[in-house]
Amino acid sequence: MSSFSGRTAFITGGARGQGRTHALALAERGADIVLVDRCTDSASVAYPLAIRSELDDTAKAVTDLGRRCLAVVADVADRTAMDDAVARAVDEFGRIDIAIANAGVSVAEGLTGLTEAMWNEVIGTNLTGVFNTVAAVAPVMAANGYGRIVTVSSMMGRSAAPGMAAYSASKWGVIGLSKSAALELAGTGVTVNVIAPGNISTPMVHNEPLYKRMRPDLEAPTRDDVAPVFASLHAQPVPFIEPEEVTRVVLFLADELTSHITGTVVPIDAGAAARVS
Ligand code: NAD
Repeated sequence: MSSFSGRTAFITGGARGQGRTHALALAERGADIVLVDRCTDSASVAYPLAIRSELDDTAKAVTDLGRRCLAVVADVADRTAMDDAVARAVDEFGRIDIAIANAGVSVAEGLTGLTEAMWNEVIGTNLTGVFNTVAAVAPVMAANGYGRIVTVSSMMGRSAAPGMAAYSASKWGVIGLSKSAALELAGTGVTVNVIAPGNISTPMVHNEPLYKRMRPDLEAPTRDDVAPVFASLHAQPVPFIEPEEVTRVVLFLADELTSHITGTVVPIDAGAAARVS
């Protein structure tokens, strides 16, 4: 794998979870990092989102590795804020070589309980947020004749489940958006690929409201209680995958030498993709 020395990586949802793991792995391999995170909760999302101190901790972990880090508090659903974050990144580092459109929220709610606000939150963050990120970084990359964009879908981006209409719609949308972007940028030196994770061990999955939804028969379900339900979503008999395994794929797709893979979807889902066409 190539060194990322001299490269700048722009990562949304970078305060914690998979975004943090991606940031640290790229920094360890030489990249300077731009972290974007909203750092506020949403009334439409049942579990807490990242807080400012988590963003600061991730930024400090990057600088402790000897790399530079710009941490921006911004909502990916806000196009002006994303254009501004990209402008600040270019001001600071002069370039953006890698972008990981990773910010996301999950709302598990049936059609009758799914409010307009929930729908708008999920589509706004997970789909419009990916569009805003890709659209903001693409001209910078195309002008440099080089770029590696990785967008984040889900195993729900090629399948469906009860209570996942908004999430699933947003993640299917990410695939269509990314394939179109890959074709549009094919002559510019910029690749666009999608990752589609299964159940990844982050706060998006390990939270009380989701545990209760997975095991409505229990008053206070534990990780052990929900494990069989999560495992049933995968083909291999594992309930959760560590974020570092997702990061390995991101590093591959972000590599300079991965120059002729674009418009693809790579599942990291313990075989779940084998169940769908
Ligand atoms: P996470 O909740 O730990 O991290 C998501 C991050 O995005 C948080 O730091 C949050 O504050 C930030 N964020 C949310 N909305 C934002 C917004 N509008 N603007 C800016 N930042 C925002 O969860 P994660 O598992 O690390 O999720 C990363 C990505 O992976 C998401 O797109 C998610 O949908 C996707 N994904 C996760 C799983 C899983 O099982 N954890 C599975 C498939 C796909």
